[in-house]
Amino acid sequence: MSEDVKKQQASTLKIINDIDALYSVELKEMKNGTTVCPVCGKSFLKFWAAERHYEQKNCHKLRDVVKGTLTEMRAYQLYRDVIAETNPKARITMKTFIKSKFYNQFVRFSMFCTLHEIADVLTYLDWLNQIKKLTSLPMLLKVGIEEQTMREFRLFMHATGIMDSKKFFERFKDDLENDDDFFTRSIEKAKISIIWLAMNYDGFEERMKRLPIDYSNRLMELVNQIEENGLGINAG
Ligand SMILES: [Zn+2]
Repeated sequence: MSEDVKKQQASTLKIINDIDALYSVELKEMKNGTTVCPVCGKSFLKFWAAERHYEQKNCHKLRDVVKGTLTEMRAYQLYRDVIAETNPKARITMKTFIKSKFYNQFVRFSMFCTLHEIADVLTYLDWLNQIKKLTSLPMLLKVGIEEQTMREFRLFMHATGIMDSKKFFERFKDDLENDDDFFTRSIEKAKISIIWLAMNYDGFEERMKRLPIDYSNRLMELVNQIEENGLGINAG
């Protein structure tokens, strides 16, 4: 993982912790029988209704937690790239981003991509738009943060081989050869293509034999899914 990715991960994890911390205090039961949410101050007649509201963990103002972080900066950059593509003349600044109705969605999308280590977010956006046919931006950002969608995208990466497997292999050759977990997860996360490895890495067969059974099972499962996905395979 590069330094930049590590910093993004740390920033995102801190935000998740900060949000959890907001919701770690008790609901306030008032003398008049109502219950008050300690985060947003909303008052409820029924305790269960207050609990249901509180358990959603989404009544805080996202900006209060995200303000000035690397995560906010990354979300802004994405917003800028996306808006510039649809409207090249738009004047986009951090200020307009903060006021934008897409602020929360871009922050959540950016956090999701960081947590799932989607290396090429612009390719992910293009895939959502062109392959998944999500033409409305709110819908694209909503579907884009579903785990199932991200798994489909990884299969697409494997089936088309569009990740730069050669570059990844050259950079992380030692780790791939010696670290079973890194080897398996790099393939699962579509950072490197298993088909490319099978065709270009002389020690591939030997490497697979050395893998503990649970790891090799995971990779076999992935190969089955790639085949079921039925896209043309290009190992180039
Ligand atoms: Zn609340």
